[in-house]
Amino acid sequence: MRVGVPKEAVPGERRVALVPETVTRLGAGVEVVVETGAGAAAGFADEAYTEAGASVGDPWSADVVVKVAAPTATETARLHEGQVLVAFLSPLTDLEGIERLAAAGVHGLALESIPRITRAQPMDALSSQATVAGYKAALLAADRLPRFLPMLMTAAGTIPPAKVLVLGAGVAGLQAIATARRLGAVVSSFDVRPAVREQVESLGATFLDLGIHGEETEGGYARELTEEQQAAQQAELQQRIPGFDAVITTAAVPGRRAPILVTAEAVRAMRTGSVIVDVAAETGGNCELTRPGEEVVESGVTIVGTTNLPSTMATHASQLLSRNMAAIVGLLVKDGELVLDWDDEIVAGATVTRRQVVA
Ligand code: NAD
Repeated sequence: MRVGVPKEAVPGERRVALVPETVTRLGAGVEVVVETGAGAAAGFADEAYTEAGASVGDPWSADVVVKVAAPTATETARLHEGQVLVAFLSPLTDLEGIERLAAAGVHGLALESIPRITRAQPMDALSSQATVAGYKAALLAADRLPRFLPMLMTAAGTIPPAKVLVLGAGVAGLQAIATARRLGAVVSSFDVRPAVREQVESLGATFLDLGIHGEETEGGYARELTEEQQAAQQAELQQRIPGFDAVITTAAVPGRRAPILVTAEAVRAMRTGSVIVDVAAETGGNCELTRPGEEVVESGVTIVGTTNLPSTMATHASQLLSRNMAAIVGLLVKDGELVLDWDDEIVAGATVTRRQVVA
């Protein structure tokens, strides 16, 4: 069985789906073909792949193509019927891309659709990449703040610790909390899923009780709040936000625009020099004034809307993603042959397009 690793085409995407270290872990009978330069932006040279046993060539004719971003129209045209593609395919939002893959007869496995069951944890690319995003968000907040995060007692006087608020305490939020805590900030957090309180507190942060309790789906995700709940949340946050130096927002509801938690009015109520890092910028942002892909200053408040944070730490983001990919490829190969076991809950759950079999 051959696994192909293309060079990512989307501008600004530095990650690669498979790193040299993982090539050796795919097992006997699995050959890897990497497009030249595929790992370069993440720090992995072609030579590192060949030393690990891969070859450099055309990845598009492989039995399984592993990618980070969904293929563009041009890339999809290079795929063929019956081929397997594993990537972040945005199955709930990129309907055009999904239709293109379906029309090409490609078996599309979306990383977002892998069921969040215990057996699938090593394949959970959403979590591995959210970990990177949360860490980087805390670093960005620390970097953009014109103040220290830790308390300092110096001969020139005492500096109080910075106060950081993390909104949304899923995988990214919990990592942002842990990182900001390690840097010495006093951290508070809020999430609509009440079950999260304990996790927030175990990291040494305070759970901010806004009096809003959302629901959790079977998969562990938040359900979208009602309009009244959203308005109440915005009003509550507007009261509390001016007390914080930095706000890191990570709130998301799968397949939906990111909920607005921080209104323009709330931004105006913050102190000059405060910072908002909006990890949800890609899906519209949790702050009303976020401009996805940009960093802006509004009323003296820096709003960081950088998208694709995992790509800014491409080496480790790729390494983690690559281990997820290796675990997924492990599901698809039996004795060196590609076998799609539709009775497997993970294969069936992650499949978003499959070849039409005409009887
Ligand atoms: P996500 O990226 O979909 O959302 C981020 C967070 O935003 C979530 O915690 C969500 O509750 C929160 N949120 C949504 N709307 C909000 C609002 N209006 N205000 C404040 N917060 C809001 O979530 P995620 O990080 O992918 O993880 C969600 C949960 O899935 C995890 O906490 C965990 O319980 C579960 N999970 C399970 C596994 C597993 O079992 N293998 C793996 C990873 C995650």
